[in-house]
Amino acid sequence: MKRIYLVVLILISFAAFLVFDFNRRSSLNVIKIINASKIAVDLNNNGKQDADEVVCIPDVKVFTSNLFDNQQDLSKIVGISNIEALKLGYLTDIFAENELADKKVKVKLFGRKNSDCNYGDIFVNNESYMSRLFVSGYGFFNNNKSDKFEERLNQAKKLDLVILNHRSNKYHKLDCEFGKVAHDASIIPRSQVPSDSAKCKYCHVDVKETPQQINYPLILSKGGIKMYLADSSVKLRPDGNCNFPACSEIVKKINSTKESIDIAM
Ligand SMILES: [Zn+2]
Repeated sequence: MKRIYLVVLILISFAAFLVFDFNRRSSLNVIKIINASKIAVDLNNNGKQDADEVVCIPDVKVFTSNLFDNQQDLSKIVGISNIEALKLGYLTDIFAENELADKKVKVKLFGRKNSDCNYGDIFVNNESYMSRLFVSGYGFFNNNKSDKFEERLNQAKKLDLVILNHRSNKYHKLDCEFGKVAHDASIIPRSQVPSDSAKCKYCHVDVKETPQQINYPLILSKGGIKMYLADSSVKLRPDGNCNFPACSEIVKKINSTKESIDIAM
């Protein structure tokens, strides 16, 4: 009987500790959204980001518009192109910003960590950010897509985004190899490109329209007059076989002449 009381007491103490730990971590400020599943929260309420204050949402992978994050593995799992991944990442970043920026949050740590962060969930108005991230279609829980994924992907595909290199003030297409050469490059909508920015000449090659081919007639005739034209773009000079219409006409006239022929040149 004593043993049962002891077990119950231990369980109550543990539960009390969890409640205390959770409440202690309430009303915290989000310091920085590194990406939609990696967020720096001011866990010790000292107004700055210290080591060990990054919270990672466990088992949920996300895309980002950060050009320097390698997301090829997730793209393959989800079955989308690299450009689609960047576009979906752009929307995912906005989602996280809307959900968490300037919000008072609670954090529930799960007691696991890696070299980068502590695993845990973030609560805004007592709602789990982890579940909102998955349900929204932007998060992939254990590599699974939510029902909203296709809708989000279609939204992403319609975006017209470019890479802006702030230092050189040039903008690139999303697949330009020079786009992420500079570390200050970021993805923005084409409509927000500053008016004094220049197109990258490598990826923005203007495809000039090939002029329409016009076929001019080689013989013009009106009444008893015929005019023979030569197309020098095809043949620079008459050949020895009299294949030009003008030549064959003259030969025909000469051969059909009965007495004499006047030729003016
Ligand atoms: Zn470019």
